[in-house]
Amino acid sequence: MKEHILEMEKYAIENNVPIIEKKSIVYIMKYIKEHNVKSILEIGSAIGYSAILMASSTKEVTVTTIERDENRYMECLKNVKKCGMEKKINVVFQDALELNLSDELKYDLIFIDAAKGQYIKFFEKYKHFLNPGGIIITDNLNFHGYVGESNKLDKGNLKSLVEKIESYIEFLKNNTEFETKFENIGDGLSISKMKE
Ligand code: SAH
Ligand code: MG
Repeated sequence: MKEHILEMEKYAIENNVPIIEKKSIVYIMKYIKEHNVKSILEIGSAIGYSAILMASSTKEVTVTTIERDENRYMECLKNVKKCGMEKKINVVFQDALELNLSDELKYDLIFIDAAKGQYIKFFEKYKHFLNPGGIIITDNLNFHGYVGESNKLDKGNLKSLVEKIESYIEFLKNNTEFETKFENIGDGLSISKMKE
């Protein structure tokens, strides 16, 4: 397992796959253990790195993870197999904004880590799939230090992406259904807890 994880880290660097930072996944794994999280939905599997580590946090926890890129999906399946996690991780090959999950499926934790410009859409679509008291964690809210600095960027894709992340942060701050804590860990995490 340990060697497969190292292999994935190497693959990610060589192939420019933006896997989660060490400190952030360590934080999430600790949260899973301490809060007895049993079911996780991840949006954005890439090669399965975060899904495999989340699934390895405790004996009981299971993960459903969604990926729209075929190569990454295939790579993810391969890695899940290598780690012997087929029973704990369900990989879905689809665009998360088009997928129709059964209304009966509910999760203790939703991890949003897909297209950064679509965070509000993912949040609004998937909040209905949380168990009472569940949380939504989002990654890359600092976006390599650009967030909060969009006014200094020239017009273009980067500026517009950073502005979207800034709007997402505002959206979370003003959200009346969820209480959000922002953690300056790795590339920036938000932890949004559904109010009971
Ligand atoms: N969670 C992974 C990294 C994910 S990188 C890890 O830390 O190991 C983001 C991934 O989200 C990319 O592979 C990209 O293809 C995928 N993605 C982006 N938008 C998506 C969407 N709408 N639906 C499904 N997957 C998406
Ligand atoms: Mg990320």
